[in-house]
Order: sequence, then C-alpha cells, then structure tokens
Amino acid sequence: MLTSVAVDVDITQLVDSNVGVHAMLPKAIFLAGHPAPRPTALRAVFQSRSPQWDYRKRVDPDTIGARDREGSVALIDTVREREGELRRELVRFGRWLHKLGFMPGTSGNLSVRLGDDRLLATPTGASKYLLQSRDMVVIDLDGRQISGSRKVTSEIGMHLAIYRQRLDVQAVIHSHPVVATAFACAGRALDEPLCSEAVMALGAVPLASYATTGTDEVAASLMNLIPRHEAILMANHGAVTYGTSLLDAFLKMETVEHYAKICLVAHQLGTPRPLKDLEVEQLVRAKSKYLQNAM
Ligand SMILES: [Zn+2]
Repeated sequence: MLTSVAVDVDITQLVDSNVGVHAMLPKAIFLAGHPAPRPTALRAVFQSRSPQWDYRKRVDPDTIGARDREGSVALIDTVREREGELRRELVRFGRWLHKLGFMPGTSGNLSVRLGDDRLLATPTGASKYLLQSRDMVVIDLDGRQISGSRKVTSEIGMHLAIYRQRLDVQAVIHSHPVVATAFACAGRALDEPLCSEAVMALGAVPLASYATTGTDEVAASLMNLIPRHEAILMANHGAVTYGTSLLDAFLKMETVEHYAKICLVAHQLGTPRPLKDLEVEQLVRAKSKYLQNAM
C-alpha cells in the first residue's frame, strides 16, 4: 500500500555551493520526490521553468531517499545557475553604466532580487568597471549581510525602501548621470512632457528632497514617490530607477539621461513646446496598448 511521507532534508548539506546559494536557502521540507513547500525565494525560477510542477505529488516511501537527493541536487543546480546569472548581469550592467559615465569613481550601485527576502547587491567602495561576480553581496530585506566577503553598498537603504514597497520590482539602479544629476542639482524635476518617447517610457520623473547620502534620510525622501514612479531624481545627488529586471532598470536610467539632455537643449533653444494634456493622455493609452501587445 502506498503511504505518503514527508521527509526533512536540509539542502544546504547536500551541495556545497561556492557562490553563496546555500545562504539563501531555508531548510526545505520535501515530500517524496519533490520539494514542498518550495522556498519562496525559488518560486520565480520554478514558475518560469516548470509551471505545471505538482510539488504535492507523493510516491512510495521506499523510493524517497534517492529521488529526494536527485530532486534537491537539481534544485540546487537551478538556484546556483540563477544566482550565477544574476551576478554576471550585475557585472555587465555595472560596466555598461561606468562606460556611459553614469558611475564614475566608485559611485553608483546596483541590486537585484534573489528571492522574496534576499537581494544580491554591489559592494561599497568598488569601481563598477573592475567589479567581478564573486564581489557581490547577499543581504536580506532588513539589510543584514548573509554572505559575501565585502561590505554592501552604503546606499543600500534606498534599494531596501524600494523593494519593501514595490513587490513587483526585481532590480534597482542608482547612478549619477551628468545631465540628469545637473537637473537634480538645479532643483528641477524632469516632469515636463517635451518628448513623447520619454513620456511613454518614464512618465514624469519627480525630484526627491535633499537627503544626506548613506543615512535613513534618503529612504524617507523617496518614500512617497516610490509607489507611483519608476525613475526618481534625488536633489543634489543623482537618480534611481527600478523595474522588472536589471535590463529594465538600466534602460530607464539610460532614458532618464537622454530625456534630461533633450530637456536641456530644448530650453537652450528657447522655445520648448510641451505636449498638451490630451496628447499626454493619448500617449498613456498608447503605452498600455503597446504593453498588452508585447505580452
Ligand atoms: Zn549616490
């Protein structure tokens, strides 16, 4: 007769990860052959790869041992692969932002969700051009460091404020692009609808009040703006963007700077002509249509 049995397996003991995967995995409870419940941190990975996975499936207890080990090793491999991928993405986008001049010196920082309660972030005091994937730091949503030999960026507070408020956000980028930062230093938001593409991609980019970098003031200054925007200028400081992936956050940062340049030149020309309210509304409608078509 088949009997259902739940087996405790600590996946951290099964595979010794060299990229810190073990740090993000809670002790998982496995039902025969399949992990259940899956760690929430892994849900996205599984949903994308195996949407029909029935983790409640139960089998003969005689077969549990081997199948559990197989399942947990596969699980670890998947998570490790995903974390490795995100570490490489942080390196790639950090270099890209550095080359664009958005992160000179050791300034700027990037982070990405590893799971519901874990982030992978760049360390403090590091050139984004020289950064390597092993330099990244794993922290929880309270800012506690879980793994990594370096200390996390001192500006992690703004990242945490965004992840806590926006469950849809998967990645955050903070940088200091020259023209956008000049707007922030001049007390000017990028909220004039001068350019249709920017209206569609970003909407209005507000200006958060000044806050001392590295303190809780920064998160407080952004708090009210985070729910309704995905790109924010920070007075006398820089810009922060966020989105569904590192690529999404990067493209927004690139667009913020591009939009700032257009606004600057339009005002230098002396006759900027903002779009009318109706035209902006039409663009917002066009954007939602575009997003629907893209799905
Ligand atoms: Zn900064």
